[in-house]
Amino acid sequence: MIVRQFTCRAVLFAHWRKPGGRKAMARPSSDLAAFREIFSKAKNIAIITGAGVSAESGVPTFRGAGGYWRKWEAQELASPEAFARNPSRVWEFYHYRREVMLTKDPNPAHLAIAECEERLSKQGRKVTVITQNIDELHHRAGSKNILEIHGSLFKTRCMTCGHEAANYKSPICAALEGKGAPDPDTRDAEIPVQNLPRCEQTGCHGLLRPAVVWFGETLDADILTRAEKVLDSCDLCLVVGTSSVVYPAAMFAPQVAVRGVPVAEFNMENTPATMRFKFHFHGPCGTTLPPALARHETEQE
Ligand SMILES: [Zn+2]
Repeated sequence: MIVRQFTCRAVLFAHWRKPGGRKAMARPSSDLAAFREIFSKAKNIAIITGAGVSAESGVPTFRGAGGYWRKWEAQELASPEAFARNPSRVWEFYHYRREVMLTKDPNPAHLAIAECEERLSKQGRKVTVITQNIDELHHRAGSKNILEIHGSLFKTRCMTCGHEAANYKSPICAALEGKGAPDPDTRDAEIPVQNLPRCEQTGCHGLLRPAVVWFGETLDADILTRAEKVLDSCDLCLVVGTSSVVYPAAMFAPQVAVRGVPVAEFNMENTPATMRFKFHFHGPCGTTLPPALARHETEQE
């Protein structure tokens, strides 16, 4: 069972570090031509994406320095306990995040991934995106084969009947119109629970919640199984906008690497020298990814 954790992410990886050992000290390569050679032959590519890809589109993450919505960081609002205590406040937070997405667009990294999937599919080759991002920017960029391991801002789940539905309404309900301002001195709207988003299944009318994986909740078993299947069969793995030591890639990339399959990181962070991964391309993924995934000279039209 995999529970979404916010702290101690590095613990997942602790067993990988060999104390004082030299075995795994080789630095990953940043040789783009060598990556392209492997890429040109790969038939089944897994692309794990994280917050960095969204950040390059200006999507706020509500984590770290300056990452507050009113007085809170995401982990204080994105939990079943917070929702039980104050569903109005949590819905204001998610309403704000949904509305913000109307002003954001996929960036060159999203577009390069989507274009690559479409191009390779015509050659009988497969690309799967495994993302922790809930903003649907991969979808909007045109990616089809996406596993959203943390759900989506644009899906709801009924607390009563469990029904999940896509929901792109703006505002999601009348009572939230104009609410959700992020400034620290904004007062809670204190919307009565019956006026929050409600289930539209016949005879239900239960309270809806965002269909995202909150802190302390388990990941969807079906999506996780599908992700495992991709990771167990891929012949190339890209980790984009997140480090391989940081969740969620820390959960997935090692199982690819132990099979001897090349893993390539594209991110802004330095990689510990102990990493066994083959490639690391430093910089904004909107800059590094497009040339890496562009048509290779050996690809047929
Ligand atoms: Zn319902």
